[in-house]
Amino acid sequence: MKKAIEGWVEANKSDLVSMSDKIWAHAELGLVEHESAKLQMEYLQSQGFEIKAGVGGMETAFVATWGKGKPVIGFLGEYDAVPMVSNKPVPYKEPLVEGGAGHGCGHNLLGVGAVGGAVALKELMKGKQIPGTIRYHGCPAEESSFGKTWMVRDGVFDDVDIVLDWHPGNSNSVSNSSSLADFVLKFNFYGKTAHASGDPWNGRSALDGVELMNAGIERMREHMRLDSRVHYVISYGGGAPNVVPDYAQNFFDVRAADIDELKRMRNWVLDIAKGAALMTQTRFEEVFLGYAANVIPNRVIAKELHSVMEELGAPEWSEEELKFAEEMQAQLEPEFIRRAVEQLEESGATLGQTKICDSIIPYSDKIEVGKGSTDVGDVSWVVPTARFRTACYTLGIPGHSWAVASCSGSSIGHKGMLYAAKILGVAGYRFLTDAGLRDKVRAEWEYQLKGRKYESLIPSEIKVPPLPFD
Ligand SMILES: [Zn+2]
Repeated sequence: MKKAIEGWVEANKSDLVSMSDKIWAHAELGLVEHESAKLQMEYLQSQGFEIKAGVGGMETAFVATWGKGKPVIGFLGEYDAVPMVSNKPVPYKEPLVEGGAGHGCGHNLLGVGAVGGAVALKELMKGKQIPGTIRYHGCPAEESSFGKTWMVRDGVFDDVDIVLDWHPGNSNSVSNSSSLADFVLKFNFYGKTAHASGDPWNGRSALDGVELMNAGIERMREHMRLDSRVHYVISYGGGAPNVVPDYAQNFFDVRAADIDELKRMRNWVLDIAKGAALMTQTRFEEVFLGYAANVIPNRVIAKELHSVMEELGAPEWSEEELKFAEEMQAQLEPEFIRRAVEQLEESGATLGQTKICDSIIPYSDKIEVGKGSTDVGDVSWVVPTARFRTACYTLGIPGHSWAVASCSGSSIGHKGMLYAAKILGVAGYRFLTDAGLRDKVRAEWEYQLKGRKYESLIPSEIKVPPLPFD
């Protein structure tokens, strides 16, 4: 069985790599990933999957289904790029498109790796007449709008039994970490314009509202839980100092370790905005841009993913790949590389060299709260879900950077992606065919949820994700 999955991925690797490279070159931003979604849909359709496009109110979201009945094994794919990090697949900074977007989070690999796993598993099911359903979820705008949260609200995951997810990374590891729940919000303040020197008494400064709001946030910060976060930028502060600005905008991320705490923090932030408006005789409106829940980890799925990872063995790197990574590392602060290596070694990696991870991080049952946020969180509240990473990048490179975009279009990224496809296919087969294992997964999920029920915090009157780049 393992051989069949590995064999299918190896025999079809040129198709998978070419699809990934095309998506890499398109580098489309969230909610407008039309070509990237189309490439995947066409391929999955040619493989016998049934496609439902435009789910969750997003044109570029889709679900591809193969098979019938229970159990339903789900895979997650992403394909959105990161603004301003375009780079050629070279070990130094040289944009492919000056100022353009690039796959600085490796989502070209993420999507196609999951497609590969789903199709490899389909071939095995078809050959052996194994009952059940495979679902590939094409999830847009992870970077900008938390696309999966809209799909979850739309009920897309309601009949799925287990979701397997992966993300390109700098190591081969499974994740038992949770994440922070996150609100992405803007606060528009409105005042009255006037000549700042001639008749300031006729004006009311919207920027004053924004600044006092931020002063209030800094007072709130002292009293937040240690794992909560709040960060802001003033995304518009006025046009000129001699004009009292009648409009200003504050852009926020508010994060907390669980949904309830996130709701409390958001209410406090709203009170602060009200206070700032009152003090400055301005008014404000809150604009909802996105939301993601914290991840509910599942140690049973994670442990199984890890054992599959071990059985398949980590990819080996060629001389050229190591040379590429070495040249890339020469562009970085040595401190970055040292820290990345130290971190892997602290997690138990035994590295053969310090350029690209060639080791599998030992499994740990310990659950940690990661300080990022992801829309996989919402999926994990409604379906037992676990994630792993494979090494797709040079060690020490910063996330969301030109260097990630470069690796994601190189053979280093391709190798990590094909390894992920194999892991997904083999693990998918085990969850599909072992009812006892699925029961354990469910019991762990219920244990981690501790009786809590999922609640989407997307305001019900908002039907489609707001475009984030306007
Ligand atoms: Zn990502």
